[in-house]
Amino acid sequence: MDLRFSDEDEAFRAEARAWLTEQLEGDFAGVRGRGGMGDEHSLFDERLAWEQALGAAGWTCVGWPKEHGGRGLTLHQQVIWYEEYARAKGPGRLNHMGVELAGPTIIAFGTPAQQQRFLPPIVGGTELWAQGYSEPNAGSDLANVSTFAELDGDEWVISGQKVWTSLAHWSDWCFVVARTNRDAPRHRGLSYLLVPLRQDGVDIRPIRQITGTSEFNEVFFDGARTKAEHIVGDVDGGWKVAMGTLAFERGASTLGNQLGYRNELDSIIEVARRTDRLDDPSIRQRLAQAHIELEIMRWSALRVLSAAGAELPREAMISKLYWATWHRNLGNLAMDVLGPEAGLTSQGSDDPYDPTLLQRLFLFSRADTIYGGSNQIQRNIIGERALGLPPEPKPAPKA
Ligand SMILES: Cc1cc2nc3c(=O)[nH]c(=O)nc-3n(C[C@H](O)[C@H](O)[C@H](O)COP(=O)(O)OP(=O)(O)OC[C@H]3O[C@@H](n4cnc5c(N)ncnc54)[C@H](O)[C@@H]3O)c2cc1C
Repeated sequence: MDLRFSDEDEAFRAEARAWLTEQLEGDFAGVRGRGGMGDEHSLFDERLAWEQALGAAGWTCVGWPKEHGGRGLTLHQQVIWYEEYARAKGPGRLNHMGVELAGPTIIAFGTPAQQQRFLPPIVGGTELWAQGYSEPNAGSDLANVSTFAELDGDEWVISGQKVWTSLAHWSDWCFVVARTNRDAPRHRGLSYLLVPLRQDGVDIRPIRQITGTSEFNEVFFDGARTKAEHIVGDVDGGWKVAMGTLAFERGASTLGNQLGYRNELDSIIEVARRTDRLDDPSIRQRLAQAHIELEIMRWSALRVLSAAGAELPREAMISKLYWATWHRNLGNLAMDVLGPEAGLTSQGSDDPYDPTLLQRLFLFSRADTIYGGSNQIQRNIIGERALGLPPEPKPAPKA
């Protein structure tokens, strides 16, 4: 097992680092380190300009093939890019759903016409995307989706409700899993539709979260319309496409998470120094433990990469469970390091509820073990698909 990057990869690292440093210490210094979890409401216009600057320089869709407007990087180089991005304190990306989920899905399952229509604006950062999977009665159990779509001439008409739809209030398009056949068994009656969000039949209501801000939304479709050809895959064949998207969700971008986490851990250590909390042996022990586990995360990612061909190996299946649990614990640690200060919001601010970045980290990290597949669901996936254990019992099909 060779865990080193090649000379070519290191040359790529130098190129990426130079570009990011120039931009983030120059024109885009104002967005440096902003827009991460719990801070995602900040600096929308500036971050949109950043997304478009990335696009103009060919850095938005680094893992996509060149023929689709991407940079065509290898898996190793994609991870290097994400590492350097975090090292340079690149801002939270506005179009994560477009770049990491919608685009790869349209490349893998879409028609040439769909690729021509939808991919260039993702590359250029001019159309933002949201993910319309979850509903009040369909989260982990996605096959229970009840949002319904039917053809009316050359358009789909959609009615129903999605929930927890991240950044929908800023997005132009949403990929929606909708039921198109009520008579078929649960997951055989679903289709995968690309739906414009800026239309009368769509009502987007931001949900105020514990951070005091709104990252996600309720999205109501009431006779919303999209063109008949904006279906990815077959009519009633959307389950396969939806599962393909989920595989992308747990892909290379999360293998480069560790450097962003390193920044957060460093800022917590900074607080520990400032407040003399380093004198407390239990805090020292927990900081050391967080450091060790973060190193394990990095070595695990390198091990996965060294075994990876074009696809990630099954060891990658532990990644989401590991980072989500580590990061949620880091939020707890941040609060314990802050001590009594942890309970004081609005320090130096007129806003009556204005958590600091570390408080936002803590509050938002409670969600890490839920979105993108909860910890329990990750354990099911590891058990069934990586270890080959017997599958959990499924509900009996409808009579
Ligand atoms: C911050 C955030 C952002 C999100 N963004 C989006 C988004 O952009 N688009 C979108 O579509 N969704 C989004 N979600 C929704 C997310 O995907 C769901 O919350 C998640 O899939 C869990 O579904 P649920 O909330 O309905 O919980 P449920 O599925 O009702 O689960 C409740 C509990 O039961 C457990 N459980 C459920 N089934 C099983 C099982 N088979 N075995 C063992 N335990 C089980 C779960 O682990 C959980 O602890 C987001 C969620 C959060 C928190």
